[in-house]
Formats: sequence, C-alpha cells, structure tokens
Amino acid sequence: MNRFAQKLAQHSLSLRRGRPEILQVNVGKLCNLTCVHCHVNAGPKRKEIMSRDTIDRIIDWLAKTDVSVVDLTGGAPEMIPDFRYFIERVKELQPARHVIDRCNLTILLERGYEGLAECLANNKVEIIASMPCYSADNVNAQRGEGVFEGSIAALQLLNSLGYGIHAELPLHLVYNPVGAFLPLLQAELETDYKRELKKHFGIVFNNLYTLTNLPIGRFAAYLRHNDKLAQYMDLLIDAFNPTTISGLMCRNTISVGWRGEVYDCDFNQQLGMQWENGGPVFLWNVNPNKIDKREIMTGDHCFGCTAGAGSTCCGAIV
Ligand code: SF4
Ligand code: SF4
Repeated sequence: MNRFAQKLAQHSLSLRRGRPEILQVNVGKLCNLTCVHCHVNAGPKRKEIMSRDTIDRIIDWLAKTDVSVVDLTGGAPEMIPDFRYFIERVKELQPARHVIDRCNLTILLERGYEGLAECLANNKVEIIASMPCYSADNVNAQRGEGVFEGSIAALQLLNSLGYGIHAELPLHLVYNPVGAFLPLLQAELETDYKRELKKHFGIVFNNLYTLTNLPIGRFAAYLRHNDKLAQYMDLLIDAFNPTTISGLMCRNTISVGWRGEVYDCDFNQQLGMQWENGGPVFLWNVNPNKIDKREIMTGDHCFGCTAGAGSTCCGAIV
C-alpha cells in the first residue's frame, strides 16, 4: 500500500470514481516550450502525437455517451496537425458538447498557427491558459525567455476577440508556484492578477485557477537536482486535507492518452498507470455506464492534489 492509500485508510476514506462527466484528452507531448515545472516532459522534439484515426475512434465513442465536456491538453494541443479537425468533429455532436483548450498562450502567435485564436473563438472553445505570474521575471524563469511578453500579446489578442468579455468565450488563467511551495490563496491571488494585468496591459479574464505542482516529470527532476524532493513530499503529506477527496478531478474525469489509452488522470498518465482489465484498456473498451465506483489508482504523487486547499485542473477544491 502506498503512503497515499495508507493516509486514506487512516481517515477511513476511499477514492472511487463517480459518473464520468469530462473526457480529458492528452493529444501528445509536442510543445513549443520546455517549462521547468512540466509534468509531461513536453517539448519541441517530442514525437508523440494523436493520429486522425485515434481522434475518429474517440469521436465515435463520445457520440454514444452523455459525457458533456471535452478537455484538450498536451503538450501544446494546438500543435497536432488535426487539432482543428478534432474540435470541429466534437462540435458536430448532438447533444452539444463543451470544449476546453488548455493553452500555453505563446502558441497562438507562433508562425504557422495563424488564425488559431479566431478558430477557437468561432467554435466557442473555453480557454484555460497557463500564466504562472503577472510579473515577467517569474514567468520567464519558469517557462523560458520571452514567454511572458508572448503570453501578454496572446492575452491581448484573445481579449480583442471577446475572450474574457463575452459569456460564451470564457478565458481562465492558471497559476502554479514557481518553486517547491504550495499555491497562495486562490481568491486573493485572482484579485492581484486582475488588478495588475488590467493596470499594466489592459487585460481582462474570468477566473484564476491555482494548481499545485505534482512531484513527477520535469518538476520531480528539478526537485531531485536541487535535493528538495523529500522535503517537498513532506510538505505535501503534512498539508493533507481530507475534505478535498470528494472534489478530486479523478472522480468525474476520464483521461485519455495520445494512443487512446485510459487513465484516472493526466498525472497517472504521465506515470504510465494505464487501466488494466486483463490487458491494457483503451477508450473504445470503456462502457461509461459501468465505471461508477471503480477504484482509482493512486500513488505518493496524489498528495499534490490533496494538500491545503486541494488542486484540480480547475483550481482549488475547498
Ligand atoms: S508546462 Fe505546458 S507549456 Fe510548458 S512545456 Fe509543459 S506542456 Fe508545454
Ligand atoms: S494524482 Fe490527483 S487526480 Fe490523479 S489519481 Fe491521484 S488524486 Fe486523483
């Protein structure tokens, strides 16, 4: 039994799935950035990307379900050749499905991606964008030189299209700590972000989501390199908050990898914790009506989701 499972047992808690509401699709590891905190180890040289055949199989599966939200992530999901095709196919489904794009912002201004922001707006895709700080120094330290300036220009472009202004074009920002510490209070930080981005750049957005860095992927390597991994794990374990369990994203989300393989969440995906049922499980093997109460696969990294106010793809839990 891993330490997280032991902690749940100490609190007489179990972690099981509820009804699936969100399909989070990680379309690959290709990205134009190489951020220090990246749990995917994404970057410009990664070759793993979702094929059109896999997209078609996912759409066929979705069409037979009532899963209402499709959440696209990566890498930079926009970099796969069939990104726009994927969105258009989801948008054709009846009943209608909501699409989220997890965007690093800078990709919207890269050569070869012209018209991408307009395509997202035309399809009413919600954007959840990484923005680890409202100051240039912190963002560039974590994400690379010039990323802050590119992100600001992209946010201004999105505002000019109505993102963050019109109700059907939501624009949310994501904060994650720039080191081995827990996020600050989400509501307070959101007030600071809104004030600073409006004052200095005229930018508006809807919500700020605070995320905890999980000790996996490139962030774990960074911690190990700085001899801080054990200390960070202790911080997460000491901050365990049992009231976060009911709001964990693994309870209502199915996570799918670039080959269609299934996991409880994107973090488990990066750790290769694929569902098994006498063999590896792919999305097209899953009956969404029969996975209620399925036990969720956990590990020490899960303490990252339950520390303090908790952490999901949509920010703090409590
Ligand atoms: S954190 Fe996001 S933007 Fe940065 S390298 Fe990873 S996938 Fe790319
Ligand atoms: S890492 Fe978080 S979301 Fe994933 S299984 Fe563990 S608790 Fe759930």
